[in-house]
Amino acid sequence: MSKTIIVSNRLPVKIDATEQGIQFKPSEGGLATGLSSVYKNGNNVWVGWPGTEVADEQVKQVTSQLKELRLSPVFLTKDDINLYYEGFSNEILWPIFHYMSTYARYDDAYWNSYQQVNEKFKQAVLQVAEPGDTIWIHDYQLLLLPGLIRAALPDITIGFFQHIPFPSYELFRLIPWRSELLNGILGADLVGFHTYDDARHFLSSATRILQLKSSSNVISTHSRSVVVESFPMGIDSDKFEEIVHEQAVRDNITHLEESFGNTRLILSIDRLDYSKGILQRLQAFDIFLQNHQEYKEKVSLYMIVVPSRDTVGQYKELRDDIDKLVGNINARFRTNVWTPVNYFYRSFPLEMLSALYCFSDICLVTPMRDGMNLVCKEYVASRTNNDGVLILSEMAGASKELIDALIVNPNNVRQMSDAIVEALNMSADEQVKRMTQMRLLISKYNVHHWVKIFMERLEETKRMQQSLQ
Ligand code: UDP
Repeated sequence: MSKTIIVSNRLPVKIDATEQGIQFKPSEGGLATGLSSVYKNGNNVWVGWPGTEVADEQVKQVTSQLKELRLSPVFLTKDDINLYYEGFSNEILWPIFHYMSTYARYDDAYWNSYQQVNEKFKQAVLQVAEPGDTIWIHDYQLLLLPGLIRAALPDITIGFFQHIPFPSYELFRLIPWRSELLNGILGADLVGFHTYDDARHFLSSATRILQLKSSSNVISTHSRSVVVESFPMGIDSDKFEEIVHEQAVRDNITHLEESFGNTRLILSIDRLDYSKGILQRLQAFDIFLQNHQEYKEKVSLYMIVVPSRDTVGQYKELRDDIDKLVGNINARFRTNVWTPVNYFYRSFPLEMLSALYCFSDICLVTPMRDGMNLVCKEYVASRTNNDGVLILSEMAGASKELIDALIVNPNNVRQMSDAIVEALNMSADEQVKRMTQMRLLISKYNVHHWVKIFMERLEETKRMQQSLQ
């Protein structure tokens, strides 16, 4: 019987280091939830890095522990992680793909490691793959993998989905290894992105750099036709709707009511990253406070920044700049009974996020670039009363779907400040009208729908290729 193999950099597991050794638990991230219906069926399997260094003597035990969760590990060394993951993926691909080309550091050692680790993933896939299987590869850490597998198994079905933006040709062509990366991706039969623009950018880079022909959204390589399309990823909307009624969430909401009383909350949640526009958002809130004294003691920003890579220079600098700006705003505007910016540099459990989504009148999501952005979709799914206002950056993939949000340019701090005022003054009717539309969309195009249409399209693509042979 043929099977489906999911491949991503990280396996969907949480690690617990106990006295008995390493324990793994399934994680409940969005992608893991969406794909659980796939990898937990039949003899399907998920291939990836378990997220921690594993000593040689533990390899056997870890492999069999993971096998019980239907997971197949790729073991990476410290050097692999430093050079392939932190280096090539996060210091070259991440900044270029998010239009921050000055942050990119081209280094041959990164490239060598990226090739080696993609090769390691290929070996791990070949250990489980058989002719007739379907392989679904995820994200920018594995751009070479479709091509490597194609060379070994020419007829196998391969889908590739990239979760971050694909930049315009002018940015992509800066990468010294641009042709190799494109050839790697084109080993897939179906290439998916979150938005139509990402797909268009990929088509344009592939045809211009590799001199390939394309017709509409199909690229003709020397051996096959590759379909390029957009599949905007959804969330598990039922989960966010249902958790609202849990006691732990209700208790958290009660605590928020006690702490904030009638102060209206603007919610902001991101990982620490320069692509998220955190400083610009704070500047917009600063301008808002300067120009609208009438909101003194009436509105607060509740800002969560989830720690990430803060030993790396650029990230540490960003964290320091955020600390400074928050301190500066609070020092200038605070009163004995009011703190304008409630800033938390830590992560929160889902029960607290859900309470914040429910309690906050406004959610302010203004990345400079974001493949999709799930926080804004989670806010919408959690608004079971159909009220609340979403302010959303036009640079987030989600803005192509959530057109009933107040859409802003994250570089335009004055416009963002105006949007805050507009949101605070939006009538109840208008809020309900907009939120109802957005909630319908989020519930219909959820993560299960996303998985289903990608898999269906992949099957269809393979049939189309076979009929052309
Ligand atoms: N999140 C979390 N803990 C927190 C804050 C956020 O698990 O304390 C989750 C949030 O619910 C969302 C994800 O982190 O599912 C962030 O996804 P998004 O696409 O918005 O941004 P990314 O970090 O993937 O760029």
